Order: sequence, then C-alpha cells, then structure tokens
Amino acid sequence: MSAASLDTVVVIGSGVAGLSAAVSAAEEGAHVVVVDRAGSLDAGGNSKWTSAYLRLEDVYEAGESFVDDLREFSGGRTPDWYGKTLVELLPETMEWIQGHGARFRKFPTYFINSNRPRLQPVGGGEGLLIHLRAAAEKLGVEFRYETTAERLEVGNGRVTGVVVSDTEGTHTIPASATVIASGGFEGDETVLGKELGGDVSTLIPIAPGVPFNKGEGIRMALEIGAKRGGQWDSFHAEPVDPRSGQPEALVMVFPYGILVNKHAERFLDEGRGTVDETYERTAREVWAQPGGTAYFVTDRKFEQVTDRERGLLTSAKPVSAGNLDELAAALDLPAEKLAATVTTFNESVVDGPFDWRVPDGKHTDGLTPPKTNWALRVDEPPFLAYPVACAIVFTFGGLETDAAARVVDEQDTPIPGLYAAGECTGIYHDKYPGGTSVLRGIVFGRVAGRAAGRG
Ligand SMILES: Cc1cc2nc3c(=O)[nH]c(=O)nc-3n(C[C@H](O)[C@H](O)[C@H](O)COP(=O)(O)OP(=O)(O)OC[C@H]3O[C@@H](n4cnc5c(N)ncnc54)[C@H](O)[C@@H]3O)c2cc1C
Repeated sequence: MSAASLDTVVVIGSGVAGLSAAVSAAEEGAHVVVVDRAGSLDAGGNSKWTSAYLRLEDVYEAGESFVDDLREFSGGRTPDWYGKTLVELLPETMEWIQGHGARFRKFPTYFINSNRPRLQPVGGGEGLLIHLRAAAEKLGVEFRYETTAERLEVGNGRVTGVVVSDTEGTHTIPASATVIASGGFEGDETVLGKELGGDVSTLIPIAPGVPFNKGEGIRMALEIGAKRGGQWDSFHAEPVDPRSGQPEALVMVFPYGILVNKHAERFLDEGRGTVDETYERTAREVWAQPGGTAYFVTDRKFEQVTDRERGLLTSAKPVSAGNLDELAAALDLPAEKLAATVTTFNESVVDGPFDWRVPDGKHTDGLTPPKTNWALRVDEPPFLAYPVACAIVFTFGGLETDAAARVVDEQDTPIPGLYAAGECTGIYHDKYPGGTSVLRGIVFGRVAGRAAGRG
C-alpha cells in the first residue's frame, strides 16, 4: 500500500460515479486512492446490480424530451442546468467510456407498453464496473477495500483529507481533493425512518448493494456546511414480488388486472398510464397499504399480453386457483370482500377493444378508483395473483453540487477541495425519470474526477 499525500485524490465509493471519477483523476496525472467499505467482491454498490438502462435515444443522443422530463417529473425543482450539462457532456463522456471498452445496445426493457428510449451497456452496471476498474488499475489507482470513510478533515477552509476506519483502526488519508461517490442513505434504516417517515421496515432493498449505502458521505459533507439537495423524504421505488428474494424481482404488469390490498380493496387506478410512467407511484402506493403489501390479481385473459414475461422479473410462479374463493384462501385475503371487489369491478368495465401495447382507453364507468386503460373483466379461470411490495432503490435526498460537480454550501459557494457525484447528490423530486441515475453518475463522476485531478 503506497503512502497517500496531499497530492492524492481520495474517491469515496467504487460504483459507476466513483470509478468514473477515479479513472478521470488518474488520467489527469493525479495519485488516486479509492476507498470502499465493501470487500473487493461486493464493492460497486447499486451499480453492481443494475441493468443500467440509460435514458438515451442513441449513444450520443439524449432525445428531445430529456431536459423537459427532468424538469417536469420533479415539478420544476430539478434545475435545467443539470439536464443541459448532462446532454452537453454526453458525446465526449460516451466517447471516453467506450474508449475504456464499454459498449451500448438497445435491448428490450421490462416496460412492455412504453415507448420512451432506453439504451443499455453490454453486461449492465457490472459490465461498466469491469471496464472502469481495469482502466483504473492500469492507471495505478490504489484501491482500499473494507475501508469506510467516516468524516472529512478541514484545514484553512478546504477539505484536506478523509478519516477512514479499516481492519487496522481509524486513520486519516490526506488529500488535495476528495470526491464523494458513496451513494444515498437507502441502506440505513434509522436515517430512512427519520427522513421518509412511514414504516420503512416493510421496504424491500432492491438488491444486495443497498445495505452498503448508509449515507456517511452525505452526512460528513453536511457536517462541514454543505447544502442539502433533492427531496429528502422520498426515494426511487419499484414494485417487486416479496416472495422471490432475487434482486429486482419486478412485477411490471400491474395494468393487466387489478391491485388489491390485504382487505381485498382496490386502492388506485392500475391503468392510469404506461408502466414506465406509473410504476414508481404504484410501488409507493403499495407501500402505503396495510403491511406495505398488495396483490396483483388477473385471470386467463392475461395470456393475451403476449410479452408479459418480459415485465415479470420475479422468479416465483403466480398463485393460481380455479375460483376466487380458492385464490383468496391461498393469499389469506377475506374471500367475501375479494368476490365483492371483483364483481363491482367487472360490472363497471366498458366494452371495447383491448390493446396491451398502448393506452387503449378501455376503461371502467362509475367506479372508484377508476381504471383508465386495459380494463378487462376478471372472470375467466384460472385466476392468478402475484404479491407485490415496494422496493427501495435509492434515496432522493443528497448534496447540492454545481455544474463543475463541486459541493456547495448554504450560500451556493463551492467548498474548496470537495466534489460529489452519483446518488449522493440530490436532484430528484416527486418522480424519478428512469434511466438517469447511472448516466449522471458517469457524466458527473468524470467531471468531478477531472477537476479533482487537476488540483
Ligand atoms: C437493481 C437495480 C436496478 C437499477 N436500474 C437502474 C437503471 O436501469 N438505470 C439507472 O440509471 N439506474 C438504475 N438503478 C440505480 C443506479 O444503479 C444507481 O443509482 C447508481 O448505479 C448509483 O451509482 P453510485 O456510483 O452513485 O453509487 P453506488 O453504485 O451505489 O456505489 C456506492 C459505493 O460506495 C460505497 N460506500 C458507501 N458508503 C461508504 C463509505 N462510508 N465509505 C466507503 N465506501 C462507501 C459502497 O460500498 C458502494 O461501492 C438501479 C439500481 C439497482 C440496485
């Protein structure tokens, strides 16, 4: 292990944001130390487990709606400069990462009725990590695993190092610049409970990377005066099958049946928009139900949705029954209530053509809550059901940064020697614009690393 000095750039975290920063800083000639709390096999946080869909038309093309989506999904709170900087830096960033071996393709997604663009790296997030780690090692970046960053050292108004704990104890790594890339606080149930409210014990970690992100990076910057960004009481949510135990056991087919809670009551419009537009809100509304659980109930007509398997990433088979009473018994739902809910629903379904590929306007009449699209009666055995719970992917609250990835204080003044990128920076509000988290980690990780490396 080489000795770190004041010319060292310390990067906290080795997901896509941290590795993009580390490689970029090393390319500027800096000596770079990456610390990660995980061991070498587990390091990579959420990046290790993600499919890493990118909200791009093509490798160098974000598409016309990119900046507008970021603004509109956040209710106007994500500033335009953020999206515009991302789009502006996209071509050179993609050129750079492809130069390190990454390749991108258009693969079909689990959003089976959506037409928003998505591009994917070959090998998903892990594929990106493999290429970036190899580049970092070639450039002489030093990796210290099982090393947890605890706090920042400050001297003469700038960040001068990082206090870490490892198997040998606690010590300081002096640094000319520090890049925080340690993810959100989704892995700390206590902080989650405080910031989100609600029963966080019923949230399911989307993947084994989640518990590593406990928010120390965010906390240590706030301790020295950094400003909060993003919506602290919200998070990126996905609907999953709680029986599966697999990472990202998605149930993205909820518009093709009804969703009921433990009392066998419907509680939302399952067909209010495409899956891409509605899956996050649906997952959050499931979380708000008793026990944080719901049941997607459908019938034989589900077979008409010919691409349904693409929207079902759960490894568990559906609960199947010949009649609704048996289904209720298998799911431990009140049978009379389930029958009444289904009957009321069926009676309100308006006849018309069904097309699972697009919002088809096949709706209910006089029902609360209504179903706006894809309303087919649930009346043909076998009846099928999947339990659905809310998975937490990452938290929205984090650090505020500027276009140069510098962490800013309450006066919007950059804190000298401190940069941040990826999940630990707070920009999202309300609804997550899917396919932007990995992308921003790469783009702003690179911005942070280059600046930190130049000193
Ligand atoms: C299953 C799944 C699917 C997803 N799908 C998509 C998708 O399709 N598209 C998309 O854009 N996003 C997606 N996301 C989200 C996206 O993958 C992440 O938000 C993004 O990869 C985060 O990158 P990061 O580098 O900021 O953090 P991470 O990749 O989480 O890395 C953080 C690293 O910091 C380390 N660390 C944490 N605290 C400390 C500490 N105190 N000291 C030292 N090290 C520390 C962790 O061990 C970890 O290695 C998905 C996530 C998951 C899990």
